[in-house]
Amino acid sequence: MDSDERAYLATHRSHEVGHLLRRWRAVARKADLQVVSLTGGGDNPVLGLRNRRSVPGNGFYLSAGIHGDEPAAVQGLLQWAENNVQSLREHPVAIFPCLNPWGLRNNRREDAEGRDLNRSFDRPGIPVIGALLDFISRRDFAVAVSLHEDFDANGMYVYELARQGESLGEDLLERVEGVIPRHQGEVEGRIPKNGVMRRTRGLMKIVREIGGMPESIHLFLNGARAALTFETPSEYSLYRRVQCHIRFLEGVVDLIGPEG
Ligand SMILES: [Zn+2]
Repeated sequence: MDSDERAYLATHRSHEVGHLLRRWRAVARKADLQVVSLTGGGDNPVLGLRNRRSVPGNGFYLSAGIHGDEPAAVQGLLQWAENNVQSLREHPVAIFPCLNPWGLRNNRREDAEGRDLNRSFDRPGIPVIGALLDFISRRDFAVAVSLHEDFDANGMYVYELARQGESLGEDLLERVEGVIPRHQGEVEGRIPKNGVMRRTRGLMKIVREIGGMPESIHLFLNGARAALTFETPSEYSLYRRVQCHIRFLEGVVDLIGPEG
């Protein structure tokens, strides 16, 4: 463990929703992003951020914290944004810093009503889902990124939903694997190819099998050119998990480039 890691682990406040959202509001001011409160006032507001001015291109959908017990995803998205204010000004973005703040506060996967929001994108009657879908309605994205963590994984990996002949997953994992290695072995009964679980078709069958619509499949079927779900292994150091999410996001913006 180096001194950066030791300092980070001694001071992080990764389950403090108020602290998190204050830092996001500071990012929004610097990057000229509008902050919209989607739902859940009081202690647990869900925020959506988008460019105040129109920016050409399709850009990025970025979300974290739909599962509250996956703090590195939330911290990684925040720290990437703090380090990349210029990128946020230059690309169209829709950002959801923490879709399940109650879960983050309580270190729980599900929301306060016991629902897995990542199986609920076909249920717009759930307030946070309905508000999010309104927030992005009729928008296309070059890439949608959902940041997650996995308690069963021994390394990092990515679910990649992409058009035939297009792929980002392998290049992205190459940029991250210096921090945490790729997962070895099965994920939900399938063997990822070098850490990449790729799908182009058959998505509604998956939705039926897992009992609800995940964020990434909804986005891929509704205007995202590619949808990436990035997972870090929960048993590694929080510091290194956060660094993985930062590098992953840097890679996404690099690979898509200015035309994104
Ligand atoms: Zn998750």
